Amino acid sequence: MCGIIGYVGSENAVPIIVEGLKKLEYRGYDSAGIAVYGQDGFDLVKQKGRLAALEERLKDRPLTGRLGIGHTRWATHGEPSDINSHPHVGSKGRIAVVHNGVIENYKEIKERLKRKGVSFASQTDSEVIAQLAEYYYDGDLLDAVIKAAGAMEGSYALGFMCLDEPGVLIAIKKDNPLIVGVSEHGRFIASDVPAVLKHTNAVYYLNDKEIAVLTENDARFYNLDREQIQKNIEIVTWSLDSAEKGGWPHFMLKEIMEQPKVLRDTIASAIGNGENKNIIGNLDIARFDKIVITACGSAYNAGVVAKYVFERLCRISVEVELASEFRYKDAIINEKTLVILISQSGETADTIAAMREAKQKGAVTLSIVNVVGSAIAKESDHCLFTLAGPEIAVATTKAFSAQLALLYLLAIRLAVVSGKLTQESERELRSAIAALPDKVTEILERVDFIQKFASNCVGYKSIFFIGRNIDYAIALEGSLKLKEISYIHSEAYAGGELKHGPISLIEENTLVVAISNCQRLYGKIMSNVEQVVSRGAKVLLLCACPNAEETDRLSTFLLPETHELFSPTLSVIVLQLFSYYVAANKGLDIDKPRNLAKSVTVE
Ligand code: GLU
Repeated sequence: MCGIIGYVGSENAVPIIVEGLKKLEYRGYDSAGIAVYGQDGFDLVKQKGRLAALEERLKDRPLTGRLGIGHTRWATHGEPSDINSHPHVGSKGRIAVVHNGVIENYKEIKERLKRKGVSFASQTDSEVIAQLAEYYYDGDLLDAVIKAAGAMEGSYALGFMCLDEPGVLIAIKKDNPLIVGVSEHGRFIASDVPAVLKHTNAVYYLNDKEIAVLTENDARFYNLDREQIQKNIEIVTWSLDSAEKGGWPHFMLKEIMEQPKVLRDTIASAIGNGENKNIIGNLDIARFDKIVITACGSAYNAGVVAKYVFERLCRISVEVELASEFRYKDAIINEKTLVILISQSGETADTIAAMREAKQKGAVTLSIVNVVGSAIAKESDHCLFTLAGPEIAVATTKAFSAQLALLYLLAIRLAVVSGKLTQESERELRSAIAALPDKVTEILERVDFIQKFASNCVGYKSIFFIGRNIDYAIALEGSLKLKEISYIHSEAYAGGELKHGPISLIEENTLVVAISNCQRLYGKIMSNVEQVVSRGAKVLLLCACPNAEETDRLSTFLLPETHELFSPTLSVIVLQLFSYYVAANKGLDIDKPRNLAKSVTVE
């Protein structure tokens, strides 16, 4: 959730930190703050609201310093307010900290320190970290950080600076992401790579309980026993452009439009000589008798799509579980189970917990993630990378499409290995997948229709998405996308379920988006359309059937033809654009919808 950044070097830290925070704002945006080591010690500005509000404050109170830390917050403990914003400084005013995560035993620590006379200013869990480090500080910040880490339970990525150590920035992480960047003019810490890309593409990925001690010209790493450890520097291939809006009104629209390229890159990575090929090619898939897919949010919906694909092609039983449920259900899995974890960030807290549970029970774990160096990428037994580049908009689009592509290719491989698919069928299916990027382009070229249709949908109080089979799976994603960014109430139902309850909610002023790519079920979904139209609903039908009718209550968007199993890749483009334009017409903050943050690193 929260985004943290820190800098120590020869340049003014303030613009570097503010620019970096802009790249991290997708992680949280209810308040922001910055602290630098100025001429007379710490200078601190914290402000409730968006980063823009902090920037306004900084105009009245310009800061300078060559060491600093910054934070953009998604509150977990304590309301969004100036005082609860980070950085937090201990009551002696000597140690400042920024925190991403949750300190689970903060109440006990707080009580203990209070009994020793420490006074607290905020309601946050994070303040205890600064207080604890000050309490332990005895002339050595590294020592204080190690002792504080020993007392804390929970998750954290932390950046520290100390009044008595003007050129030192210290960072540590556990269960939340943190990278260290190295440039010619200094050293950085950040929650995510885009925050430092303007200055460097050379980064270290911190592992849990590793500590970075940074100065202008040096980066040293230690474990909690204070032993120095060696780490390898890695070169990030993401370009700076990919983390910029580049003239588009929103990142979300830019990312929707990038999908043909993302699909091409991701598909190429899994076939030919691409980087994902070895994993897909060499995985001994035939040994599994069950697949469990576990994920959250849109990644879960990608899993529901995949269930239909795997079951149809491989005739293997697939369960799809929300990671937040899976982790606590004492799942029935063993070494014959393949557990597939899907997470854009690779840092989703519930998915990490599900992965650990699966590993502990002996299952083989395979992850699909977008961020190299992320916890899930590192800890899972096998990892496939979506080549989506940085995804900044909170509502996922391109990473979702890339996840689907890898899942299709994995299913085909499993089907071949287990003798369910001939090589000829494999070739046919693969060429259907290879044709998807051009078909996505075809849809993107018809954006005007969707934009116009969406402009008339702003007033709807409720929008339903229906489909059957794999169309139902993608209806779930359409509905989630709409909720996330337009704040319109929405539900997704399997067409056959309407009559079992939800049809009672259909009335004038309800819109139903019906998806029909399953030829054999076209008649069935059209009966559902009839049922809702006769109760006053308007319908937008997405289908590949050229004879689909149009009436004043029924508008049709004709999808390009593809194999039924891969049609979600095409339907979802229309659904993404629809949600985007509804939200745009409502004038909403599309890239940063209220109450949401992108990588959900808290439970
Ligand atoms: N628990 C901290 C707070 O509420 C940090 C939250 C987070 O990382 O999302 O300020």
